[in-house]
Parts: sequence; structure tokens; C-alpha cells
Amino acid sequence: MNVATTVAELRRFRGVLPEPIGFVPTMGYLHDGHLALARLARVANRSVVGSIFVNPLQFGPREDFAAYPRDPERDLRLLEETGVDLVFVPDGAAIYPAGFSSTVAVGPIGERLEGASRPGHFGGVATVVAILFNLVQPTRAYFGQKDAQQCVVVKKLVRDLAFPIEIVVGPTVREPDGVALSSRNVYLSSTERIAARALSASLRKVRQSYDGGERDAVVLRGIVRAMIGAESLAELDYVSVADAVTLDELTSVDRPAVVSLAVRIGRTRLIDNENLL
Ligand code: AMP
Repeated sequence: MNVATTVAELRRFRGVLPEPIGFVPTMGYLHDGHLALARLARVANRSVVGSIFVNPLQFGPREDFAAYPRDPERDLRLLEETGVDLVFVPDGAAIYPAGFSSTVAVGPIGERLEGASRPGHFGGVATVVAILFNLVQPTRAYFGQKDAQQCVVVKKLVRDLAFPIEIVVGPTVREPDGVALSSRNVYLSSTERIAARALSASLRKVRQSYDGGERDAVVLRGIVRAMIGAESLAELDYVSVADAVTLDELTSVDRPAVVSLAVRIGRTRLIDNENLL
């Protein structure tokens, strides 16, 4: 496995990789959710490129950029074991050279849900993804359903700005107790980690209710409100039942939809979602 830290190195290693190329961008501190995306890329492409970059542009001023967990040596070992061919581990200047000022604006889709709680977040995501796409020039890029709105925003970015790249969404990887794997789970104390089960538990209950025929979005959101409300350590930031493509809130689930929620547990903010098809 080759490791590139500069744009020049990346171009050199990338230039000799056989196509098609699958690309898995990450912020590191890897877990099986990231590695599952790398495995998906491995089976469908001749080459796999990963990246590890904690992108300052997608963090708000009061968010955890400085504290975001990092373990690059372990990450590189895991990526090599997964059969990744090339990893780009840029420093900030490789992505944002001195005087950098051009950014991608994603429009209203980036202002709701996660974007409402995290102003500027999706502009930061779209900007770094566009830069990485231009540098890596992959055939396909892999993103996790765990970040459902990010998947919608990236698909729109690719369509709107005509990137010749196929976006593949991998399923959310969970712990045995249902909690979605996240690099931020390390922030949770043991009692908070147990409280975190409320997110996926509430989504399972929504799924059951939907499978039983419930289509009223107010009722489905109410299930999440009640279950998060019953968990004393958890505070609901938002719950949404929205059109899976536009993210417009629904009154009735009469088309493919995504139920998503964000919850604060102590100092940690967790998200999860479930597709209703
Ligand atoms: P991050 O390092 O958090 O930026 O995540 C990098 C990629 O891994 C993104 O496409 C995420 O959606 C994806 N990812 C994160 N957690 C999971 C998970 N539990 N299951 C599947 N994909 C995930």
C-alpha cells in the first residue's frame, strides 16, 4: 500500500493505478463502518484509494475539530489489511493552499436537519469532497448511509457539477446492541454508551410501526420523541421524516423516505437514520 501526503505524491501513485478506481474518503479513526466501505470498493474496482483528512471546513467554531480522535498509524494498518492500494493523508496545506478562498455552496438542502444545527457544515463537506474528487479522479466513490444527508448532498454535488463519478452508498454498520459505529462513540462514558441505544431502538420501533401500516409522519416522529424523551441522559436535537431525495418533510410516507434523528448525550452529538421504502 502506498501512502501519499502531498498532491505531487498522490498524482504520481494515482497515475499508475489500474482503473476502475474506488475511493473511500474518511476523517480517520477508522472502524468497521469505514472498512466495510473499503471492502465494497475492493470487490467492484481494480484499485482502491482511501483518504484520511479531518476537514476543518466542515466543523463549526464550537465543534470538536481539535479534539476529533486521531490514530493514523492504526488507520493505515487497517486500510492495508483491507486491501487498499493507496491512501492520501494530506496535511491542511495540501488541500487548502495559502490564500484558498473558493468554496462549493450546496443550497437549501444543506441548511436543514444537520445543516440547521451545524451551519456551514455541508458547504465544508461539499468543498473538500470536490477537491478530493478532482485530485483522486475515481471511477466510484463510497459513502455510508449512516450520514444520510451527506449522501444526498454528495449525490446532488456530483449531478449539479457534472463529476463523472458514480456514488455508492454502503449500509450502516452497527454494534451488536444496535448502536451505529461512529468515531465519536469514544467520547461516551459507559452509562452514556448504554443510553445511546435509544437512537437505534427508536428507529426500530418506527420501522415496526411503518411495517404495520402506519404512514402518518407525525405519529412516526412521535415514536422517536417518546423513546428519546424516556432516556434521561439523551436530549433530542431533531427528528425528521423526509423525502429520501429532496429531504422535504413529509406529512404522510407515500414515497421513499428517510427517518433521521440527532441526539445529544452529555457532550456528544450522535445521529442515526432508517430508510422507509
Ligand atoms: P467519517 O470518517 O465520519 O467522515 O466517515 C467516513 C465515511 O464512513 C462516510 O461516508 C460515513 O458515512 C461512513 N461511515 C461512518 N460511520 C459508518 C457506519 N457506522 N456504517 C457505515 N458507514 C459509516
